Amino acid sequence: MREVVVVGAGLAGVRAGESLRAQGFAGRLTVVSDERELPYDRPPLTKQLLSGTMTEADVRLAGAEDLGARWVRGTAAVGLDRERRRVRLADGAELPYDGVVLAPGAKARAWSGAVPRAGVLTVRGLDDVRRLRAEVDGGAREVVIVGAGFVGVELASSLSGLGVRVTLVEPFGRPLRALGGTVSGVVAEAAGRAGVVLRLGTGVRGFRDDGGRVVAVELVDGSVLPTPLVVVAIGMVPATDWLAESGLALPSGRIHCDERLFARSGGGSGAPDPRVVVAGDAACCDAVRAADGPVALEHWSNAAAQGELAARNLLAGPAAAEPYDHVPSFWTTAFGLRIKSVGLPGTGDRTVAEAGDPAGGAVLEAHYRDGRLVGAVSVEQGRLLSAYARRLRGERMIASGTEPSGT
Ligand SMILES: Cc1cc2nc3c(=O)[nH]c(=O)nc-3n(C[C@H](O)[C@H](O)[C@H](O)COP(=O)(O)OP(=O)(O)OC[C@H]3O[C@@H](n4cnc5c(N)ncnc54)[C@H](O)[C@@H]3O)c2cc1C
Repeated sequence: MREVVVVGAGLAGVRAGESLRAQGFAGRLTVVSDERELPYDRPPLTKQLLSGTMTEADVRLAGAEDLGARWVRGTAAVGLDRERRRVRLADGAELPYDGVVLAPGAKARAWSGAVPRAGVLTVRGLDDVRRLRAEVDGGAREVVIVGAGFVGVELASSLSGLGVRVTLVEPFGRPLRALGGTVSGVVAEAAGRAGVVLRLGTGVRGFRDDGGRVVAVELVDGSVLPTPLVVVAIGMVPATDWLAESGLALPSGRIHCDERLFARSGGGSGAPDPRVVVAGDAACCDAVRAADGPVALEHWSNAAAQGELAARNLLAGPAAAEPYDHVPSFWTTAFGLRIKSVGLPGTGDRTVAEAGDPAGGAVLEAHYRDGRLVGAVSVEQGRLLSAYARRLRGERMIASGTEPSGT
């Protein structure tokens, strides 16, 4: 393999580049990014960077500059021609490849209705946090955050820490509900103690503006929240529009890949393409499964592990490639709480408290499906999670017919 193109210079793309070089790939490596920024890490954006305890220099992804890569920055890939083995760029250039790593990640999901021109933000990247921080530094003392998933909760925590009055609106009634069990309650209490006003169980009907600047949020229950600033934090959409003509399978916009991270063709054949591998938030991998099929992960550790393996498998080729065998793990911090999970806690049918004391802010809950462990979540009990990760690895080895060890 002489020419490899990596699309996306987030964590998955950079780890793929490092992995290619670590395997001894000495050919031409081109990394394409639609952002002008040097590669950076996203988890600190809504936490330490927004809070001011880290600088922009601190969030850069170390190692990216040592890849010996040709960088194409500020230019999007707009097409993948698998027959001619070319990545097409927005400026009309074409990059030939022997192998390509698709790691385009995701964009913040935009509000589907009308939005005022100014004062309504989303947060996914460095520029978004700069804009948000500029609003706060410019005097915004109030914010309404729409959506209490992990980004919304982290923003609420950091902004309230900066002295901003935060109202957090969540139509589904519970913050961090994907983690199940009692975590939502513990987080809601901590948020309340930090002065965050929670509006749970009611959604947003629309926005009011004055001269194009947001002045209030209208809720479905009829109430109106005056505010000069809104952050819409309602999840993400995979950045895969540009692959629509590629012939790849794109269920729910994710790039479907086999257990070895080779992208599957669409149109009924489903055959993996030996020259195209996938990693990170844009991927939906056959190796990450719940009872009803593959599950997409939007976690840092998944992007890192898939980037590393995707590159290794691309060089090895399908016959020698290894299956993706990573136990999912996730962490976040908010309101002084360290929250972690392993496995797929959202896919269980029974939750069991196995340690901790939710009233005291400590949770260790195991999630089971049909009696089998599928995930575990902790608040301030992180040291106990590694045993659950080992059990999950053991379950997986039994399922795949290999002997578990060290469980
Ligand atoms: C604010 C925030 C906080 C987070 N906090 C945590 C946390 O605490 N714990 C945790 O486990 N996970 C966290 N995550 C999730 C984690 O950061 C992601 O899972 C990870 O960044 C995904 O990496 P990626 O490389 O797949 O995608 P991305 O980081 O999205 O990188 C993809 C890159 O590709 C670029 N791109 C997209 N389309 C194109 C194109 N057509 N051409 C060229 N370039 C393109 C994008 O602009 C981007 O630069 C957080 C995410 C966010 C946004």
